[in-house]
Amino acid sequence: MAIVSPWKQDFPVFTTYQELCYLDSAATCLTPKRVADAMHYYQCHLHANSHKGLYQLSANVTAQVEKARERIAEFIGASDQNTIVFTSGTTESINLIAYSYIASRLTSDSNIIISAAEHHANLLPWQRLCQQTGASLRVAPLDQYGVIDIAQLKALVDSHTALISISHSSNVIGKINPVQNICQFGRQRNIITVIDGAQAVCHGGINVEAIGCDFYVFSGHKIYGPTGCGVLYCRINVIDQMQPYQVGGGVIDNVTYESSRYLSGPLKLEAGSHNVIGIIGLVEAINYLDDIGWPDITHYLKTLSGYMQKSLSQLNVIKPVVPNSFITTHLDTQATPYLTSFQLDKVHSHDVASMLDSKNIAVRAGHHCAQPLHKALGINTSVRVSLGLYNERSDIDRLIDGLAQTHKLLL
Ligand code: PLP
Repeated sequence: MAIVSPWKQDFPVFTTYQELCYLDSAATCLTPKRVADAMHYYQCHLHANSHKGLYQLSANVTAQVEKARERIAEFIGASDQNTIVFTSGTTESINLIAYSYIASRLTSDSNIIISAAEHHANLLPWQRLCQQTGASLRVAPLDQYGVIDIAQLKALVDSHTALISISHSSNVIGKINPVQNICQFGRQRNIITVIDGAQAVCHGGINVEAIGCDFYVFSGHKIYGPTGCGVLYCRINVIDQMQPYQVGGGVIDNVTYESSRYLSGPLKLEAGSHNVIGIIGLVEAINYLDDIGWPDITHYLKTLSGYMQKSLSQLNVIKPVVPNSFITTHLDTQATPYLTSFQLDKVHSHDVASMLDSKNIAVRAGHHCAQPLHKALGINTSVRVSLGLYNERSDIDRLIDGLAQTHKLLL
């Protein structure tokens, strides 16, 4: 079966590193030339500060930022662009929710529910809020396939549950979680829901209104955009109740020495100057993906992922972090993951990554910012491989060869 990427040529890094086998897109995606070109063009020819100047150059930039808000709203199925807040990424988005909305709603009786498979970005802000308010943090376990166990999560909910904050897809296991079911359950009980979409956004087809969440967050660099630019979607009547957690230029309607009145809508949460070049890059990345077409992207990455899982499972020295995580069919919600994590029998993950690096194969090794999950799985570290548009069958074959040779050499 030939699986050859028609898009690899769009990524200039492969002209510099011709032998690179990049299997770490879950950490950050490589950048298509088109995205880099759009950012370069903006910075050289169009750059000014947005939302401040009255002259043409600045007014054009303001219009571009607001058009980007519309484009991103459309991309994630939000009918109102005023629900879209620009942030520096998923981490900032979650911290912003914590301090602009959740903190004032917690008492020492409250509880917050997360899952066992959260990235530290969706754990530490809640852990700290709980320490500050006396609220408690409850952790929903995963089922045998590595998906959040809905029944057990629902059993943790009581009348003091203030928030459920879970990933749409874990950055260690990669399965798609049943977020719509969980958000609708939360909504019926007036529980706020936050979905960390950092690893799901590359699957496309996000529809925040169908999911029914209060908040949805993601980072531009996980969908072929630049680092330092991310998105926070806030349901419209929720954004009206949010208070800025950072204040300064750009967020106010009126200021005196005694007090200030904030703007309404997303601008009140975007203190300081916008990361316009980042926003331009993110929109270009979305346009690039839309131009390829999501059905083609999905078909290609699912085929490649299926080949990767089959090849890994045939290597008898591989132990997936969740024993049944290579099984993808027991629920519709378990769309084929684009990443997977495992251990190589009796070889430390760091040694595996170093050996693979010596063969120009880039994988992630460690706890992937999910230390409690690794502990819960009874391990300290794992190797993670994740796919992007530039990967092809030959990358998987090189990975499998590299793993087999590493095992032979280091055991
Ligand atoms: N959440 C998940 C599931 C992630 O995979 C990541 C990054 O790997 C993050 C949050 C944090 O994203 P960022 O570092 O872009 O803020």
